[in-house]
Amino acid sequence: MAKSAEVEHPNKAFGWAATDTSGLLSSFNFSRRATGEKDVTFKVLYCGICHSDLHMVKNEWGMSTYPIIPGHEIVGVVTEVGSGVQKFKVGDKVGVGCMVGACHSCDNCTNHLENYCPKMILTYGAKYYDGTTTYGGYSDTMVSDEHFVIRIPDNLPLDAGAPLLCAGITVYSPLRFYGLDKPGMHVGVVGLGGLGHVAVKFAKAMGVKVTVISTSPNKKKEALEHLGADSFLVSKDQDQMQAAQGTLDGIIDTVSAQHPLMPLLGLLKTQGKLVMVGAPEKPLELPVFPLLMGRKLVGGSGIGGMKETQEMIDFAAKHNITSDIEVIPIDYVNTAMERLVKADVRYRFVIDIGNTLKSSS
Ligand SMILES: [Zn+2]
Ligand SMILES: [Zn+2]
Repeated sequence: MAKSAEVEHPNKAFGWAATDTSGLLSSFNFSRRATGEKDVTFKVLYCGICHSDLHMVKNEWGMSTYPIIPGHEIVGVVTEVGSGVQKFKVGDKVGVGCMVGACHSCDNCTNHLENYCPKMILTYGAKYYDGTTTYGGYSDTMVSDEHFVIRIPDNLPLDAGAPLLCAGITVYSPLRFYGLDKPGMHVGVVGLGGLGHVAVKFAKAMGVKVTVISTSPNKKKEALEHLGADSFLVSKDQDQMQAAQGTLDGIIDTVSAQHPLMPLLGLLKTQGKLVMVGAPEKPLELPVFPLLMGRKLVGGSGIGGMKETQEMIDFAAKHNITSDIEVIPIDYVNTAMERLVKADVRYRFVIDIGNTLKSSS
């Protein structure tokens, strides 16, 4: 029988875990492996709350095993490095995003696309190489192979920078890969939440003209005045949508709820690209005729490889891009999850792990 989470590794650790599908998080003693030759161990200072944390703690994707410590927007300061570690030293500011392992030999890995490796290991709720469960960043310490550790530049704030490790790379990678990063282009961003608001910031920093597309006019002022979008479209307003037909080179669609694609395809120019980065639970209806009449493309994208994630963080630091955050203490996390269900946050909760996570023992 496998050893319990508390004693399977030599280093004591403490975090908050969900133990059943209620998703309620509570304090949890577990353990981390000793720092291996290629490992970086760090003290966690902040961890963002991603929408997938919410899905995972409630097992809404049917893949969760309990107990589960969520968190894959993890930043902190290095406390120990293995003898074979080359990129990091004690005291460095670092982060870990959505993955902590991959095969390092498949075509994807060879091309810096570890995120698409069939053997990619998720930061939490997955099985590591040694067969033990991976635990995320709602915890006091983290250990990872240095390949999956990101250097956080000095001028990037750790709290507001943390969400970039998932939300940031999720929108940065498709802007680059689908060629929607050329100055003068016109890109639409659908949905103004954790992903959408950083998509606007990255696209603007790339020199792209940005239109935010939302179901309600409530966020118009915010999008234009605060986030710097160039224009705002209310997707339920037929006149506005009609007037904007054929104006966009591409669209980053961050919405994870059911929504019609037809109106979005209509906004694209000939050869325009609709890129999905949200994850609706059920299949969406895809009207094909508008694709044929304009050689349009619908694609997807999921986070990014480690090389590109470092590039994204460096780009963010250079252009002063951070997430808009609400910093919370760890004992507020269950309330934060409830508010996240209602999208009641602008735009990302970040847990102040360093100051508020205290072991009971
Ligand atoms: Zn995430
Ligand atoms: Zn691989």
